[in-house]
Amino acid sequence: MPRAARNLWFHTLSRLALVLGAALLAGIVLGQPWPALALAALAVVAWHYVRLHGLLRRLAARQRLSEPRGHDAWSVLDALLYRGQSERRARKRRLLDMLRAYRAMAAALPDAVVVIERNSQRVLWFNQAATPLLGLHYPRHHLAPLAAALQPLPLAQWLASGRNAEPMRDAPSPVDPAVRLDLRLLPYSDELWLLLARDVSKLLRLEDMRRDFVANVSHELRTPLTVIHGYLEMLEPEEKPEWAPLLAEMQRQSQRMAQLVEDLLTLSRLEASAAPQDEPVPMAPLLAGLRRDAEALSHGRHRIHVIDAAGVDLLGAARDLHSAFGNLLSNAVRYTPDGGDIEVRFLREADGGVTLQVRDSGPGIPAAHLPRLAERFYRVSTSRSRETGGTGLGLAIVKHVLGLHGAQLHITSSVGVGSTFSCRFDASRVLARSPSLVASPA
Ligand code: ADP
Repeated sequence: MPRAARNLWFHTLSRLALVLGAALLAGIVLGQPWPALALAALAVVAWHYVRLHGLLRRLAARQRLSEPRGHDAWSVLDALLYRGQSERRARKRRLLDMLRAYRAMAAALPDAVVVIERNSQRVLWFNQAATPLLGLHYPRHHLAPLAAALQPLPLAQWLASGRNAEPMRDAPSPVDPAVRLDLRLLPYSDELWLLLARDVSKLLRLEDMRRDFVANVSHELRTPLTVIHGYLEMLEPEEKPEWAPLLAEMQRQSQRMAQLVEDLLTLSRLEASAAPQDEPVPMAPLLAGLRRDAEALSHGRHRIHVIDAAGVDLLGAARDLHSAFGNLLSNAVRYTPDGGDIEVRFLREADGGVTLQVRDSGPGIPAAHLPRLAERFYRVSTSRSRETGGTGLGLAIVKHVLGLHGAQLHITSSVGVGSTFSCRFDASRVLARSPSLVASPA
């Protein structure tokens, strides 16, 4: 037993012995030792009960305990309880301070933060930015259903997808439709979700400006280029034979510039449209047209096969699809050495979707380049691309067109063996081929 505890018990028991001894002595003097001793013992028990009662009352009333004085067992018990209570209070204060700091931090964020109860989808808490961005006001929207509070934003279905909800990249603010928001749903616990809304108006405006700038520059360049190209075509090399190679190069470069401008304009147009102008796209004539274009470009240098195994049509924008498939086929022709094989296959998939594949026996593309191939102006070999009249925008156009059609581009390639570019459309884009179109001339 530690010394302090030994002292405590010695002190307590000696006090008891002293009281009882004094009572016994007084009893002997008065000639009633035992009743005096019993009375003193009863008084001690009563005193203990009084202290116990006092302590229980203070604990039950959750009263702040007072700093104990004295050295007996009760005082030590009081001291232990006092210490426990003080520690609990200090911990609570620390937690409260932390909570306040977190709340102040969330409140000060420039993005709107809304805590939602998962099952009822009611608003539990929101920060200051939620008022100007989302129009949430306290206490009106506290515990209000989120979808109703953020009308007219179409949130019901988005919230229903919960954990799988894709971020809404460009949603109009319910307060001011000119303010564009990026909305994200983060289910951060089993019961609670977080809705984050960020004002992306400036970013989107910059993006619009960039798009408009590229479109305007391309548009402005188109006319002077056409004029220059026209004059170059008119120049006869026979008049100055020493200029013939120069003239040919100038014609080739102006042709390349014109193609670049056309591709940039196509990209701008695709970027500006949210969805394709859906129409039935008869695939038999489209495939026949692709074959003709490829043969014209190849000048008989390649074996070109077109296999139409799917026997269905597509739903989408005919002009854009033709341009996307045409780009893939033109790449195959341009990059495959003479004598190579090029195959276009239109195939049905097991899930009802279709794939248009362009396969070549060209040089192939090292795997490291594949993820970046569809970026604008990304080229594996710049010289080969320029030599063959490439603009570096072909695959970017393909990716955009497919994106608008909800389709994906898959590229597989093996160096020295060839490449396969697959455009994968899901079943919603597949139409039964109409008999009149099957019969129409290819
Ligand atoms: P480009 O106009 O330069 O062909 P693309 O966007 O169409 O631009 O293609 C990007 C790059 O991908 C090309 O520069 C080329 O290096 C590579 N590439 C595209 N198609 C093929 C192919 N069929 N075989 C080998 N490389 C290819």
